[in-house]
Amino acid sequence: MSELRIDPVWGTRVVLSTKRSSRPTDFPTQPVAAASQIRAPNPNCPFCEGNESQTMPEVLAYREPGSPTDGPGWQIRVFPNRYPAVMEENDGPSYGRHEVLIVAPWHVRSFAELDHETTTATLRAVCQRLRDLKANPKTRYVLPFFNVGPDAGASLQHLHGQIVSLARVPGTIGRACQALAAHQKRRGGSLWNEWLDHEATEQTRIVRRGRGHLVLCPPASRTPYETWIIADHPQPFLEETPEDHLHDLARSLDQVVRGIDHALNRPSYNLVIHTAPVIRSRRGAALIAAFRWHLQIVPRSTRIAGFELGCGWFINTTAPEEAARNLRELVVHFESQST
Ligand SMILES: [Zn+2]
Repeated sequence: MSELRIDPVWGTRVVLSTKRSSRPTDFPTQPVAAASQIRAPNPNCPFCEGNESQTMPEVLAYREPGSPTDGPGWQIRVFPNRYPAVMEENDGPSYGRHEVLIVAPWHVRSFAELDHETTTATLRAVCQRLRDLKANPKTRYVLPFFNVGPDAGASLQHLHGQIVSLARVPGTIGRACQALAAHQKRRGGSLWNEWLDHEATEQTRIVRRGRGHLVLCPPASRTPYETWIIADHPQPFLEETPEDHLHDLARSLDQVVRGIDHALNRPSYNLVIHTAPVIRSRRGAALIAAFRWHLQIVPRSTRIAGFELGCGWFINTTAPEEAARNLRELVVHFESQST
């Protein structure tokens, strides 16, 4: 039995085929290396404390008072990417800024290894850069993301994010905004509202209810245990999240990543952060009014292969309902440990 599911906002097509999970394989999987308990810099890592001279000059850092710029004494550092995908010297669609955000001065490899305060600071820094980059009149869209582990596209182990600002709104984002606005016009209500009301009634895919957000496995999950953290109220912009909500958002992120580590043996994963494009016109404001910020955590225990490349549909071998049930139990367990 297989089932085609379509994401109502992004239009993603997913074939849910749980039988395929029992296919034989003789390739080893590549989990992220075991969690390190040692909070020490790695002298060979350009992103660790003490090696600041190996990176570009910082544009933002959360530092101990009095510590020198581009020296030790920081918690989070952001600087331009030495190998940018877009540049401010370019015109047209390739205009933009490409930054790197380093999480923690010690050699940390996943959000699962962080303390709560560092995860919160990471989200705070992302929000700050979103506000700063969006203040540039040429910027139309900013995309923060984290590739964690070799199968997620990371080239260096040290946990780091990338933040890319663009002068155009990418097609996928534009189409999602248009789908939401069209639904609003046609039905008089918000697609996100209707969908989240439906999820609240069904309960089967909800993992956790946080302060200002909901954690769930979307019905059209592209990979096993794909999980979204989404605003539980109409709010297009992550960067407007209040501080107390940011703390609980960090808690949800910690718990989801630890749950996925437990369920899938520490897979590589991508964290993609969606916040609405910059508003430059009344029409633009109407287009993004129905958008909601959301974080997508996409474990990479399975690979994108010929079927996905050939027809653009994903094959997922784990039902999101099963993933959500397991994550829900793990989150309850983590919360009982922390109290
Ligand atoms: Zn490092």
